[in-house]
Amino acid sequence: MSDSKIALSFCCHPDDTEFTTAGTLALLRQKGWQIHIATMANGNCGSAELGPDEISKIRYQEGVAAAAILDAPYHCANQDDVFVLYDRPAILAAIKIVRQVKPTLVFAPSPVDYMADHEITSQLVKTACFTAGIPNIKTDDIPPYHHVPHLYYADPMDGVDNFGQQIKPSMLIDITTVAQTKEKMLCCHASQRNWLLEHHGMDQYVISMKQTDQQRGKKVNVQYAEGFRQHLGHAYPKTNLLKEELGNLAHNLEQ
Ligand SMILES: [Zn+2]
Repeated sequence: MSDSKIALSFCCHPDDTEFTTAGTLALLRQKGWQIHIATMANGNCGSAELGPDEISKIRYQEGVAAAAILDAPYHCANQDDVFVLYDRPAILAAIKIVRQVKPTLVFAPSPVDYMADHEITSQLVKTACFTAGIPNIKTDDIPPYHHVPHLYYADPMDGVDNFGQQIKPSMLIDITTVAQTKEKMLCCHASQRNWLLEHHGMDQYVISMKQTDQQRGKKVNVQYAEGFRQHLGHAYPKTNLLKEELGNLAHNLEQ
């Protein structure tokens, strides 16, 4: 059993963490946690003008810059956008990152979301958390990690499933005091922000993130909040570590 304070936000695309979990990461950082940010995909479809290699290199640097705001390393499993598969290479890549980081707390995308890349990443991260300790799974010279971390799923885009039904988080984290840090991290993804800025004529990238957090915040009478559901299935820790760490900032919601 590990009690080290290492949190890993393992989402799909290079700006997904900055839309979903970055505020909670910033709060954990203030509590002395070491933060890591990882993505399954390299962002290689994130441009209408640049080729896949060119844009993925830019997006890697943007991921590094955003993570650095929380003194966090950025890891990329280097799968291609839209082609994130639940297959052997992707599972091994996810396990490798979990073994390198050795997290006690992991954030993953919602198991149901608007994009299959996110849903597959959710499954990959779930599997990696559970199987990182299996000795017969070899990941070069990186040894197994014998600890199943607490796992939390971020809210899906717009908070709804594929049929428009609300997916209710079990907990909302009040991120009001770190909302500016989250915005600063998101703005590191200039290639994505500028594209929307030109397209919409307004800063839609940042506005949409803030609107989502405001809507969640309203539910518990705070300015900005992020929503989570904890993985409580077989073999995963069941205590609410986020609540233990963040105290009154974590609002449990009745299901
Ligand atoms: Zn994404």
